[in-house]
Amino acid sequence: MAQEYDLVILGGGTGGYVAAIRASQLGLKTAIVEKGKLGGTCLHKGCIPSKALLRSAEVYATTKHSKDFGVITSDVSVDFRLVQDRKNKIIDQLHKGVQHLMKQGKIDVYEGLGRILGPSIFSPMPGTISVEMNNGEENEMLLPKNVIVATGSRPRTLPGLEIDGEYVMSSDEALQLESLPSSIIIVGGGVIGIEWASMLSDFGVQVTVIEYADRIIPTEDKEISKEMQRLMKKKGIKLVTSAKVLPETIVKDNGVAISAEVKGALKEFKAEKLLVSVGRQANIEGIGLENTEIQVVKGFIETNEFFQTKESHIYAIGDVIGGLQLAHVASHEGIVAVEHIAGKDPTPFDYHLVSRCIYSNPEVSSVGITEDQAIEKGHQVKIGKFSFRAIGKALVFGESDGFVKIVADEQTNDILGVHMIGPHVTDMITEAGLAMVLDATPWEIAHTIHPHPTLSEAIGEAALAVDGKAIHS
Ligand code: FAD
Repeated sequence: MAQEYDLVILGGGTGGYVAAIRASQLGLKTAIVEKGKLGGTCLHKGCIPSKALLRSAEVYATTKHSKDFGVITSDVSVDFRLVQDRKNKIIDQLHKGVQHLMKQGKIDVYEGLGRILGPSIFSPMPGTISVEMNNGEENEMLLPKNVIVATGSRPRTLPGLEIDGEYVMSSDEALQLESLPSSIIIVGGGVIGIEWASMLSDFGVQVTVIEYADRIIPTEDKEISKEMQRLMKKKGIKLVTSAKVLPETIVKDNGVAISAEVKGALKEFKAEKLLVSVGRQANIEGIGLENTEIQVVKGFIETNEFFQTKESHIYAIGDVIGGLQLAHVASHEGIVAVEHIAGKDPTPFDYHLVSRCIYSNPEVSSVGITEDQAIEKGHQVKIGKFSFRAIGKALVFGESDGFVKIVADEQTNDILGVHMIGPHVTDMITEAGLAMVLDATPWEIAHTIHPHPTLSEAIGEAALAVDGKAIHS
């Protein structure tokens, strides 16, 4: 018999499972339909596995230079199977945690492929959901009052550059590598490409990054890109920018060779493997959108500010709606959607205040707009910048590359954006985010006491530097 629910969520990734927990807290009878594993991309193929590998790479790179810290080691090497085991254990632990949270919230989990069938006499709005069960049992029929589509995304590739899993990989296959290649070409120098470049280089792999734009991480502030470029080159990574990869030139024979048009000239690149990291496309196929009025624009589901689609009882959140494809964005969108369903009148999500992080070595983090964007918007800007070279804790860590940059409005003193590159900056950006949520000025950041010695002193100094008053510069 068909089960009735207040809410059925298609997809149990970060967006879906967090939405389910909030719904359960608000007393909604909730079910999740998940065709793979609870936790989705972030837990199994994204944030967590990539950060586990990055950490192992960082430990290896640091240990190789342990003499700098007066610690003598010998025969430092990587056992990549152990690296993968560690990663898998972390995923298992967190996966069990999510399963436990579902039980605790009395959320029904259907393991199978969900599909919207559209309105029927049994469920006029938003319609029945069918679940093709993974275990081969008869399809389940669910009758929800509301639906959230949270089916996420998958790697995109370039036409003609098919993922074969052997020579040409996406991040999905790269995370499952059984051994490290000696060399790799990474097509795409955005967030994921640069995290992989940094990690593989720290593991000792020869890395070439080919990027279409004229700089790597092109969505970040220009000065951050420039510093990252310098530090990636210092690691020995070859960066090729303003380069258009030509998929039709690929030759796979005991490795990969591919050509690219680089500033008008044709250049060939060779490596053992090739990783494509050119963005992600929404999972909108096979979920029954054709049975609804839902609009898809440029490959992503269109919603209003409360994440309602054209069908007011069907919401969509996370990577499937595009925009900032980040785990913390997906989960927050899920919370807003559920609170709207429960009639809680949530505050719409302000994307301007979302922190963005790159977990490479060194790390990058930012919130708000870049200097160029501020100027384009007509602001008269003033900049405060402070280098980690003058921060005691950074020297103690042996990681003094990078800086904090604050972009503020000359007239109003509003903080328009904060951009950081350096050690542990992904853990430091929330201070800047909070300052922007509270409409704080650089003066207020500077007069928040930053304990000594900490890396956060760079934020306090950058805030003072906005008005030319940094102490240690
Ligand atoms: P997903 O996590 O993709 O979940 C969607 C779920 O829906 C999946 O489990 C899928 O199996 C299921 N599904 C799909 N179709 C159906 C169906 N018809 N029926 C049932 N189930 C279905 N973000 C960060 O914030 N920080 C990071 O450090 C970070 N690192 C990343 C590293 C990599 C290599 C990658 C690829 C991504 C990374 N991301 C990171 C992005 C982050 O993983 C995504 O933004 C996030 O997972 C999106 O959550 P979601 O719930 O929208 O979708």
